[in-house]
Amino acid sequence: MELDAYRQCAETFTEELMREYYRHHAGLQDSFEIEPIYARHADLFTRDAVDALRELDARATANDGGDERRRARMLLDFAVEGYVGEATKAVEEELARTEAGLTIDVDGERIGFREAPVVQANEADAGRRAEIEAALLAATRDPLGPHHRELIERQHACATELGWASYADMCAHLKGIDLQALSTQTAAFADASAAIYPQVLEPELRRTLGIDMSEFRRADLPRFFRAAEQDGRFPAARLTESFVGTMRGLGIEVAAQRGVTFDIGSRPNKSPRAFCAPLRVPGEVYLVVAPVGGWDDFATLFHEGGHAEHAANTDPELPFEFRCLGDNSISETYAFLMQHLVENPEWLARRLDLDDPSELVAHARAQRLVYLRRYAGKLAYELELHQSVDTGGLAGRYAELLGDALAIEWPTETFLADVDPGFYCACYLRAWALETHLRSHLRERFGPAWFESSEAGQVLQALWRDGQRLDAEELLEQLTGERLDFAVVLADLGLS
Ligand SMILES: [Zn+2]
Repeated sequence: MELDAYRQCAETFTEELMREYYRHHAGLQDSFEIEPIYARHADLFTRDAVDALRELDARATANDGGDERRRARMLLDFAVEGYVGEATKAVEEELARTEAGLTIDVDGERIGFREAPVVQANEADAGRRAEIEAALLAATRDPLGPHHRELIERQHACATELGWASYADMCAHLKGIDLQALSTQTAAFADASAAIYPQVLEPELRRTLGIDMSEFRRADLPRFFRAAEQDGRFPAARLTESFVGTMRGLGIEVAAQRGVTFDIGSRPNKSPRAFCAPLRVPGEVYLVVAPVGGWDDFATLFHEGGHAEHAANTDPELPFEFRCLGDNSISETYAFLMQHLVENPEWLARRLDLDDPSELVAHARAQRLVYLRRYAGKLAYELELHQSVDTGGLAGRYAELLGDALAIEWPTETFLADVDPGFYCACYLRAWALETHLRSHLRERFGPAWFESSEAGQVLQALWRDGQRLDAEELLEQLTGERLDFAVVLADLGLS
């Protein structure tokens, strides 16, 4: 295999795919055609390419503990993801088509399947939120259920074809994450926070939704996360300005950054949720925003802004693998570091002039705990799902693990739909831990208003320059000498 040619082709493929995604979701084009992009680059994802990169990975792992090993593993991960993508793209497209055209009937009103969570988030009436949920779950069973099943079965078949014992084993190898050990850590976090969890959550449920734990249902989650009562404090007009001002505080002039484009124009088919599209890293990065205001909107923009700054500050001289591939826990860490500013009392006071953010801070704490416990439950479940031969029997197990995690009754219907490919849940969990380590490191060095220190900005820029060369464990080891530890997350939430 001609490695340099492979890398070049892989980078072109990545850019073309991202450009198609950006143009469609930014509302610049209706069509979303990834099939021709895959067809143009079919050589990247053949069985031969996977086998050649597997040999390279084995050799590099035996010979070298450094960058050659990292690059080989990242390329293998890329090739296998594409190989699985080829095998699943037909069912994914079918699923997307069916979902996009699907509507649910709620009391005579038709609601788009994909819009339904947004409608739930904006619905003040708990009974109606539950009706929407029931209709969503019915549609998840039929017509979507068979497509979700086929998708998971094809993923599993690919892992077996390629000689791994299971999809879970395959992902653990490709991502270089000991998923079982991570799950042990996150299960310990869940155990340690179990007793206090209702005490943290219930006052917030009462205050924001007017319900207690016994009345809390999954249908209420989008409304709870929406924090609608905070809307007045987070006006749309201050959204981009507060991000640009925050970056300025860190010594970074967003307007002067080459290659970063703020896409804030309004278009009919623009995605209502902000997203970051790094078409070329670092040269062409779009931050797409459709400002409506509200706390959640700020949180999303800051999250995506963290991804954008990481990409835009990546060293252009780094090889393709370190700029565009690697451990996504790293980019998610920078995204959460920025996102968590909008729940930081110091930041809220300085940037949005909020004098008493205590309710918001309590809400954000409860929300973070819900997310952490939910993802700990998801990881435990996905490990079982992706190691099992017969996935059909796991609906009950899914409801049990997620229900226990959140102390609410959890539906069985979403057991194959509520699954992100490639154990992305592990990236979020590791990012939450690494972000807590990184934030406390910044706070210790630069004080509680670290986000107004250009020196802190220089520390971040030095980290960003490295792309995703290191994984989460390696990065923390180099930064502070620590090991990733969920006890710091527990302490950060004031639970230990
Ligand atoms: Zn993210």
